[in-house]
Amino acid sequence: MNYDKTSSVAVEFIHHGEILDTIAYAQEHRHDRELIEQILDRAEAMKGLDHREASVLLACEEPDLIERMFRLARKIKEHIYGNRIVMFAPLYLSNYCVNGCVYCPYHAKNKTIRRKKLTQEEIRQEVIALQDMGHKRLALEAGEDPRNNPLEYILESIRTIYGIHHKNGAIRRVNVNIAATTVENYRKLHDAGIGTYILFQETYHKENYEKLHPAGPKHDYAYHTEAMDRAMQGGIDDVGLGVLFGLNNYAYDFAGLLMHAEHLEAVYGVGPHTISVPRLCMADDIDTADFENCLPDAIFHKIVAAIRIAVPYTGMIISTRESRKSRERALELGVSQISGGSRTSVGGYVQEETEEENSSQFDVSDRRTLDEIVGWLLDLGYVPSFCTACYRAGRTGDRFMSLAKTGQIANCCGPNALITLKEYLQDYASEATRAKGVNVIRAEMEKVPNEQIRTRALQYLQAIEAGERDFRF
Ligand code: SAM
Repeated sequence: MNYDKTSSVAVEFIHHGEILDTIAYAQEHRHDRELIEQILDRAEAMKGLDHREASVLLACEEPDLIERMFRLARKIKEHIYGNRIVMFAPLYLSNYCVNGCVYCPYHAKNKTIRRKKLTQEEIRQEVIALQDMGHKRLALEAGEDPRNNPLEYILESIRTIYGIHHKNGAIRRVNVNIAATTVENYRKLHDAGIGTYILFQETYHKENYEKLHPAGPKHDYAYHTEAMDRAMQGGIDDVGLGVLFGLNNYAYDFAGLLMHAEHLEAVYGVGPHTISVPRLCMADDIDTADFENCLPDAIFHKIVAAIRIAVPYTGMIISTRESRKSRERALELGVSQISGGSRTSVGGYVQEETEEENSSQFDVSDRRTLDEIVGWLLDLGYVPSFCTACYRAGRTGDRFMSLAKTGQIANCCGPNALITLKEYLQDYASEATRAKGVNVIRAEMEKVPNEQIRTRALQYLQAIEAGERDFRF
């Protein structure tokens, strides 16, 4: 069994031997200034790096070269994404689960967590609460339970969500994070109009994966690892990868993650739309002290920078698992999408839970409201964006990538961010946030390169003030 990134077999495109060789190579060269400089020089072209080169950067122990790596990550982020940060919120539909994941409080044997599944009416209430905060983009989350949360339930929930229009609110993009499923089911999710299909690999290390998932359908490493292939075959061309850092050796999972991205690019001509970087958190009956691979912040942020350099055009997502301080650093180094005002409990947007009635998946570190997050981002010089235009204009998969790669982000995503921020300021922001946002929009409009687009964007901004909504380029 050889390493073959074009193979459809999990253990061939995520090849254990290749990962071990990669880690050994990276360790051997961690002080090799000449090689590290060559790799950084190559990465300056913003065309990415392969898993081996990126692993050398991650292993690098030369302080000045680590600094150069951070500077480069920041430069790539600024060049490709500008200062836009896309906003989203998770929506937990159900925490019923038949799996035995040892790190997740949803595991079937947990008797202390309160089990809950939202009815369609409860979903309506949650979505209205999310719309009233100003959210336009959701990530649906659910445990795996074919009896309680069958695909039909997820599909019905998506229809409900897209159908709710409360005041000026609307959810314009529903991303979905549910367990690995069949090509046929992925096709149904695609037809229901989902944005990105997100599935975290948790760990790419097969033996540890099987120990961490001792029971239930998720135990099957190949079925889980090959899920994105089935999603692509079902017509979903925006897929989101992720590793749950803390479960396994990080260098192993970093290499695996990039090999997975290389596999998708090699077979389907388009890499992952996003990569998430969740870190293991305390939760109901889960104690992070029981996990020996938990990461310190310094390594976590090095991983963020190395991912940014390795896959420049892949969006990077960070959740409220991370603290304000950690998110601030990750934003500088490459993260392009963050959640805000999140509740990880089922039904938590309508009613915040007490500790006793806990149904949440993990303890949130960043507990600020969406308005506080938006105000904070504006203070840091970012443009919070509620844009969902690409997906709605059919610019998914390789069509999104060609937009990004031809540098049209400044003429398209930039103005879209400003228009959607304007809607947020008009409809949902506090006085203080609105004042900051108005100044930022004024300054940013000057930077739109194409004059015609700038003029049109200005007209859209005026129309939004007059009460119209939902413009896009
Ligand atoms: N059930 C779906 C599956 O099988 O992939 C996905 C939904 S689950 C609600 C979303 C993710 O939360 C998981 O993939 C896992 O990485 C993460 N998660 C689980 N337990 C966690 C914990 N204790 N701390 C942080 N993240 C956790």
